[in-house]
Amino acid sequence: SDTPHEKMRSAHELAAKLFYHVLTLTEQGALGREYVKERGFTREQIEHFQIGFAPDRWDALTTILKKREFSLDLMVQAGLLGERESKDGYFDRFRNRLMFPIWDGQGKVIAFGGRTISDEKPKYLNSAETPIFHKGQTLYGLHLARPSIRKEGTVILFEGYVDVIAAWGAGFTNTIATLGTALTEEQAKIIRRNAETVLICYDSDQAGINAAFKSANILEQVGCMIKVADMPEGMDPDDYIRTYGADRFKSDVIGASLTFMSFKMRYMRRGRNLANEAERMRYIEEVLAEIATLPRAVERDHYLRQIADEFSLSLEALKQEQYQIFRSKR
Ligand code: ATP
Ligand code: MN
Ligand code: MN
Ligand code: MN
Repeated sequence: SDTPHEKMRSAHELAAKLFYHVLTLTEQGALGREYVKERGFTREQIEHFQIGFAPDRWDALTTILKKREFSLDLMVQAGLLGERESKDGYFDRFRNRLMFPIWDGQGKVIAFGGRTISDEKPKYLNSAETPIFHKGQTLYGLHLARPSIRKEGTVILFEGYVDVIAAWGAGFTNTIATLGTALTEEQAKIIRRNAETVLICYDSDQAGINAAFKSANILEQVGCMIKVADMPEGMDPDDYIRTYGADRFKSDVIGASLTFMSFKMRYMRRGRNLANEAERMRYIEEVLAEIATLPRAVERDHYLRQIADEFSLSLEALKQEQYQIFRSKR
């Protein structure tokens, strides 16, 4: 018979089917359907990503798992149920939430992310680490995206699964997301095995910008080429697509993505008045130090020329300056 891991997996498969059924076909899913409609998810998106709804009940999944003779203790370990404090029974861990199945690389459901449809906290309730779910080794949507990632040689990396779903609706199929944690080295290695270039498209708030830097550095270390999407401040990809549409997302965000170096340069400019000489010099110094870390001479040359052009400086002077920064840092 089945091992405990296999039982946990088949319970997740069953739960995903239940949640999908509830959302798409039942009275108990009405509030979920309303939420989904308001957010603009289409039937195609719901089907492709097997989005579901956990009803506002304590025993919907528990009853089914019991009927199918799953060990309910095992289901607690699998993160699907909780055990009552009095130890006299079990309850559904996910209630009144829009449910996003999370798959392993082969497409088996191993966890869920549940988004509240009201303003309950936390906004997202994700499965904890379990024997079959390791957050740091999982990338949302990878098995769905793999064929087009391989075909294009590029993967678009988002912060949230709703961004993946929105981007899919806008025609981008080579898209994945981390699961609310910083990108790990293990995830970076998985990405590298599937794609040469990674286009990071994180939320354009302070947290997202910081996370983009961190992820880019990790991805660079495993040998990926990095690009960073050009998102207007304060927006996330899903917001952008809903506000401006697929075409502008394609041309102005994905199409206008920056190299990692250009992204760093833009970041260093923020809040600086480059018309002021002292601030300009400080900026140039920082950029030169950053350019010096680039491994390839042609790349260093490219950005040095860019700075030389922008500020009407000679390439010679910049190289001299860079040499002095380099010496003073040793
Ligand atoms: P929405 O558009 O529904 O608000 P989002 O994807 O924009 O969702 P963010 O706040 O940008 O949500 O968070 C990005 C990701 O981080 C989510 O997909 C989720 O995995 C994770 N996350 C966000 N908030 C929480 C939370 N309170 N607990 C656990 N994970 C969270
Ligand atoms: Mn965010
Ligand atoms: Mn977001
Ligand atoms: Mn969002």
